[in-house]
Amino acid sequence: MDNRRLIRKPVAIGEALERLMALVPAPGTETVALADSFGCVLAEPVVARHDVPPFHRAPYDGYAIRSADSATACEQRRVSFRVVGRIGAGDVPARELGPGEAVRIMTGAPLPPGADAVVMLEQTVEDGQRFTVRKPFRAWENVSLRGEDARAGEVLIEQGSLIHPGVVALLATFGYTDVRVARRPVVGLISTGTELLGADEPLAPGKIRDSNGPMLAAQLARLGIPSRSYGFVRDDPDQAAGLVRRALRETDCVITTGGVSVGDFDYMPAIYERLGARVLFNKVAMRPGSVTTAAVWDGKFLFGLSGNPSAGYVGFEIFVRPVLLRMMGSRRPFLPYTQAVLMEDCPKPNPFTRFVRAVWRHDGQHPVVAPAGLDKSNAVSSIARGNALIVLPGGTRGFLKGAIVDVLLPGAEEGEAEWRIRES
Ligand code: AMP
Ligand code: MG
Repeated sequence: MDNRRLIRKPVAIGEALERLMALVPAPGTETVALADSFGCVLAEPVVARHDVPPFHRAPYDGYAIRSADSATACEQRRVSFRVVGRIGAGDVPARELGPGEAVRIMTGAPLPPGADAVVMLEQTVEDGQRFTVRKPFRAWENVSLRGEDARAGEVLIEQGSLIHPGVVALLATFGYTDVRVARRPVVGLISTGTELLGADEPLAPGKIRDSNGPMLAAQLARLGIPSRSYGFVRDDPDQAAGLVRRALRETDCVITTGGVSVGDFDYMPAIYERLGARVLFNKVAMRPGSVTTAAVWDGKFLFGLSGNPSAGYVGFEIFVRPVLLRMMGSRRPFLPYTQAVLMEDCPKPNPFTRFVRAVWRHDGQHPVVAPAGLDKSNAVSSIARGNALIVLPGGTRGFLKGAIVDVLLPGAEEGEAEWRIRES
């Protein structure tokens, strides 16, 4: 088959994403141990199984008192309390507090019955078994109230949320030893190219090391998604088709890199045809990554990313990430975005929406962003230096320093519910 005859009509990024997202199957679910839940997407909401805190407790080290007993306290007429006991965190108060009595109490300990305020140690003058205060305390002053953090029965985190360390803390709080999560897809990775060597091989004339395979495994790991590497194949249609077919059978989704352009050895389009995969798009109005291809085979997604490292990186973040996160039931599968002040001129015109690998930071006054280096689709150093992608909409001329630009943040944990970036 002659690849050059392929009809490749560029689709807008938003259109390509719609075609993809429409086909994402409902997530399967599984139960994982709490310790393994980090990075999964919740398939059930986190519901408070009891009040938090479960009892009124002291937020500071100090003395538990009955607030009414302090009503007349002032600088001139300090009020004195008699210390009748001590409660540490984990203890249970022995008895009800009587008039003028106080109990020494530690952070996290339950207030004894009758007590309704905590005097911080710094607010007292201590003298043996007594101490004085110089101001009245309000009812429930310095008390961490039962249920102030969460009420029994309350839905605290919705289904479809990513389990980050804070969610792990919440799950543990309520004794979720097992968590219902969306099943994580296993993704197969294949790098194509006769020029490719492993990271452990010495360079040879005409050859380069495969950086895409390890990069994509890491991009997946960043989303908590396991991958299976099928290594790399030569630009040989029989070999490549065999490997892609095997990977499709053994995994939930396959990502290939390389071989999707129109060169003499770019066999991937022919392989899709051979497999009978339904191509959703094979050209996108974007740079880099315009040759990004997506197809479906037996209900499984097959992504053909460019072999150019920057293009492959961008293709993954823009298209593969939302599909996989939605497969995992995520409500916010798209990249988080923000805006920032451009710190350097980006003079190139943008016939297509351009993603510039960039460094994003806050300069103390504004969020600012600057290109991370060589802005070419075959660059690898700029993806290494960058922590963000600048989005320059298609149909625009160059952007000057000082312009406010859209910025996508691939490193952030949870993203947006929708694709809302301007493309033109
Ligand atoms: P292709 O998409 O196959 O036309 O490749 C485009 C460019 O990316 C070529 O310069 C390839 O040598 C390079 N390339 C392809 N695959 C990889 C890879 N796995 N790692 C690094 N560079 C690659
Ligand atoms: Mg190639």
